[in-house]
Amino acid sequence: MGRAFAYVILGGGVAAGYAALEFSRRGVAAGELCIISDESVAPYERPALSKGYLLPEAPARLPFFHTCVGTNDERLTPKWYKEHGIELVLGTKVTSADVRRKTLITATGETISYKILIIATGARALKLEEFGVKGSDAENVCYLRNLDDANRLVNVMQSCAGGNAVVIGGGYIGMECTAALVTNRIKVTMVFPEKHCMFRLFTPKIAEFYENYYKSKGVNFIKGTVLSSFENDSTGKVMAVILRDGTRLPTDMVVVGIGIRANTALFEGQLTLEKGGIKVNGRMQTSNSSVYAVGDVAAFPVKLFDNDIRRLEHVDSARKTARHTVAAIMAPAKTTNLDYLPFFYSRVFSLSWQFYGDNVGEVVHFGDFSSGKFGSYWVDKGRVVGAFLEGGGREDYETITKAVRNKAVVKDLGELGRKGLDFAFLESKERGPETGLIVERPVYAWQAAAGVIVAVSIAAFAYWYGGRRRRW
Ligand SMILES: Cc1cc2nc3c(=O)[nH]c(=O)nc-3n(C[C@H](O)[C@H](O)[C@H](O)COP(=O)(O)OP(=O)(O)OC[C@H]3O[C@@H](n4cnc5c(N)ncnc54)[C@H](O)[C@@H]3O)c2cc1C
Repeated sequence: MGRAFAYVILGGGVAAGYAALEFSRRGVAAGELCIISDESVAPYERPALSKGYLLPEAPARLPFFHTCVGTNDERLTPKWYKEHGIELVLGTKVTSADVRRKTLITATGETISYKILIIATGARALKLEEFGVKGSDAENVCYLRNLDDANRLVNVMQSCAGGNAVVIGGGYIGMECTAALVTNRIKVTMVFPEKHCMFRLFTPKIAEFYENYYKSKGVNFIKGTVLSSFENDSTGKVMAVILRDGTRLPTDMVVVGIGIRANTALFEGQLTLEKGGIKVNGRMQTSNSSVYAVGDVAAFPVKLFDNDIRRLEHVDSARKTARHTVAAIMAPAKTTNLDYLPFFYSRVFSLSWQFYGDNVGEVVHFGDFSSGKFGSYWVDKGRVVGAFLEGGGREDYETITKAVRNKAVVKDLGELGRKGLDFAFLESKERGPETGLIVERPVYAWQAAAGVIVAVSIAAFAYWYGGRRRRW
């Protein structure tokens, strides 16, 4: 026994939500589309979990951050799916897939068949056990990938107010969770094996700024070592963390953010895999033409990097690959290969940064690190290929986006550093206005054209929403 749909989205995260919106805009008929998710709630903006969700006061809670509110689009509540005839199969894990037969089997034994499948299974948090450390199932050890994890983290945090935490990992989960813990009056020691935080992206100079900022908030850093074991009390709770160098850190709780792994297991041996993900072409189509992959699980060619295959783990990529896939499915003749500029961001305390492009080649820092507005360009073969900016405004971010998108020519690295943001502004002026920017525009910009009344009401919403959004 089972159900059949024209389109099935496997996974109910960020990419699924944005794909659903795109399907509805392109006129999917009622009953044609189904989303299967092992989470118990409709797709939501996952980045909120390490930001607004962890605030001690007026925290963000569903339904306020269902997709696609993250780009000022419609907010897709369960009611929205119902009204649009989209079947949400929640709390249901798919345990096997057969791409030849075009079927999925759920944990309850139901067979769901499709004409076209979109794999949006995202990724899972890596567990300490995968690195030979036992005990991460203790009640005061937290990971953060989904809503259940976030609820658990909130509970543990509340029970540890005024206490100590050890955060394992110096990536964005570690950094964002540390900021949240400090805001919740918990003293944090961060432990990671690298020389500095955000090792895969930050330069030592950029990392120094953030680490000093964190230190000013009381955060202690232990770098160049890893966790080797836990010390538990008689109830099984972790009471100390033991590091490989023998250091013992007494603690009330532990947060682990040591990376993720794409959820590809259902398709291994059936679809081509690359870079730890499911390989797709520029239309997000896998090695089976009826199957597409989007978001964290997809490894796709980035045109801007000479079609190098990349698997990105960021929300903007999930949103855009999802929309592109639906366009490729619903309007194949009008949809060309995806031309995506990698973009990601983070917000911690009152800081906020964005990064575009690739961090390869020579680094040129600019701006005033003491004022909190600074950045860096990455220059490869005489061209800007990446840009990072902390503390910028919308116009600044749009301008550096253009410099990266255009691969602006750099004649003199010293001059680039001296000019800093002005380099991008001048370059953008010389080129004139351009379409295709990836910076997300507030919804009221395009809707204003529809009429003053609509514009006023949407601007009012955007104002209200802007206030809420800053809290994620
Ligand atoms: C706490 C947190 C904070 C983040 N903050 C930022 C940020 O500030 N900036 C940024 O750029 N990115 C951020 N990210 C990354 C961003 O959220 C992800 O890139 C994005 O969610 C990827 O979307 P996705 O749809 O591919 O995967 P997901 O959103 O992870 O969704 C995958 C879905 O598939 C479901 N699923 C998987 N396997 C099965 C199965 N077998 N059966 C049924 N369902 C299944 C999962 O339960 C989940 O619902 C953050 C991520 C986390 C966890």
